[in-house]
Amino acid sequence: MRIDVLTLFPEMFEGPLSESILKQAREKGLLDVRLTNVRDFARDRHRTADDYQYGGGSGMVMKPEPIFEALEHVGAPVAKGDRTGGAVVLMSARGRLFDHGLAADLAREPRLVLICGRYKGVDERVAGAATHEVSIGDYVLSGGELAAMVVVDAVARLLPGVLGDMESAETDSFYEGILGPPVYTRPEEYRGEEVPDVLKSGHHEMVRRWRRKEALKATLHRRPDLLERAELTDEDRELLQEIEAEDNTI
Ligand code: SAH
Repeated sequence: MRIDVLTLFPEMFEGPLSESILKQAREKGLLDVRLTNVRDFARDRHRTADDYQYGGGSGMVMKPEPIFEALEHVGAPVAKGDRTGGAVVLMSARGRLFDHGLAADLAREPRLVLICGRYKGVDERVAGAATHEVSIGDYVLSGGELAAMVVVDAVARLLPGVLGDMESAETDSFYEGILGPPVYTRPEEYRGEEVPDVLKSGHHEMVRRWRRKEALKATLHRRPDLLERAELTDEDRELLQEIEAEDNTI
């Protein structure tokens, strides 16, 4: 998948893109991230990408022209509602909260363009050219770059072939709408705490059921909101009843 990132700070992406899974995905040709410096499209002598706000108030605003020209340069459609070129995502604290469902939707797009704001944000006319406005959480970052990296990472993990069997996304939190189970590695006993016996039993069916139950238990205790929306099987409902009965006896 090709992902274009429009930013004033392209160097920020170098670290995350050249380690581990994202590095391998790029080497395998599954992920093609292209960084475009919005400042290259600022036409004036001082290469100004921001300006004062209309109406007054503190904080500069990113000008629309360099961003629109950068969009055109990478071949992204800038007309409202034009979806022919995939998704054009504006990183914004005012956007829709990013979650697994949105990551999965974006992973199915033919390509992505991510726009990173800075300062007080970007001129609202840029939002009009975007197909999505996305926030990674209810807090304000200094710029869209870290948010864009979060989106690139979460989307890349869902692209076919990026994760090997060993890392499979299917057993991670949120894949089936609930949290993932706890995991253990060696040593068998550490500082008085033991790895649960069932995981050492070699009994695949018992391990599967234990993991499912622990995943449901964590979700019930930590994120009950997820359970309301998750698609549960008959076995899940049975396991939840067991968990609730156990909780009540403690
Ligand atoms: N004045 C804006 C915040 C600007 S912060 C407001 O009140 O909403 C500068 C830039 O950082 C934004 O343009 C956006 O691109 C990015 N940003 C800040 N918080 C973000 C968040 N939670 N998710 C995604 N992007 C964010």
